[in-house]
Amino acid sequence: MAPSLADYKTDVWVDWCPGCGDFGILAAMYKALAELQLKPEKTVIVSGIGCSGKIPHFVRVNGVHAIHGRAIPFAMGIKLANPDLTVIVNGGDGDLLGIGAGHLVALGRRNLDITVILHDNRVYGLTKGQASPTLEKNLRPKALPKPNIQDSINPIALALASGFTFVARGYTMMLDHLKELLKAAISHRGAALIDVLQPCVTYNDIHTAEYYRERVYRIEDEGWDPVVRNPVERQEKMLEALKISMEDEVRIPIGIFYQDSTKDTLEDRIARRLPSYLINPPAVQKIEDDGRPILTWEIFRKIFAAHFVESEPSL
Ligand code: SF4
Repeated sequence: MAPSLADYKTDVWVDWCPGCGDFGILAAMYKALAELQLKPEKTVIVSGIGCSGKIPHFVRVNGVHAIHGRAIPFAMGIKLANPDLTVIVNGGDGDLLGIGAGHLVALGRRNLDITVILHDNRVYGLTKGQASPTLEKNLRPKALPKPNIQDSINPIALALASGFTFVARGYTMMLDHLKELLKAAISHRGAALIDVLQPCVTYNDIHTAEYYRERVYRIEDEGWDPVVRNPVERQEKMLEALKISMEDEVRIPIGIFYQDSTKDTLEDRIARRLPSYLINPPAVQKIEDDGRPILTWEIFRKIFAAHFVESEPSL
């Protein structure tokens, strides 16, 4: 039977602060998963540490509540071992753009088919409101003793520069718009990032719902076409998307900034090198026969030498 929206909900109490922007992201995820009719047994959500990290407990699909900053490597391992799965990462701005920033860049470079949902509230909510990498310099949300002295990261610019082939920004209080972004990102074949703006009602008294209501606008309403139809269009489209992403004090753009389906994924590249990869990926291979491991060090060394290095490594 086709899963309904209720089928994606668990019985676990959702214990975020009342009014937290995470609720909107969760609601949009339920709707997107249901409308895409994703099979729970073929879907995996991986999270890091932070308020957003609790998401896998609330969604009835496979889930991993991983460690701080390492949700993306977990997700990459899952996807590479079993490319048949739909893999989604949920992480906060502190997790994905602080300790985990290198992994975010690596995912973009590889263009592996994973969707990253960045919960962006500009503070470390779970640890009581310290400045996160997206908090602008000179601002002082209420938990900071003094204004922030570091520059902020623009997640859209970082994703574009890293090689993500789907880059978008949503706002948690525009639920239907966010749901459509999630559906487009999950359906996109390649690395996708959605920067989701969300108030942290407990620790961020600057980037509130009122703040966003006055500033957010949809780039599609202003005629932006994010689609790359030919590899030669990439550079120009990327530069335009970058320009649009530079938010100012007055206006914050949301929508799809960039979408490129002309670039091959890491799975495609591995399959060209190992033709059996997509039909016989690691997750479906036997690892033992009658209690004895099938993959011995000798066999592994031969496979590695044949496919990944010019000459056999000296051991
Ligand atoms: Fe949400 Fe902030 Fe509360 Fe965390 S601390 S649950 S981000 S409102």
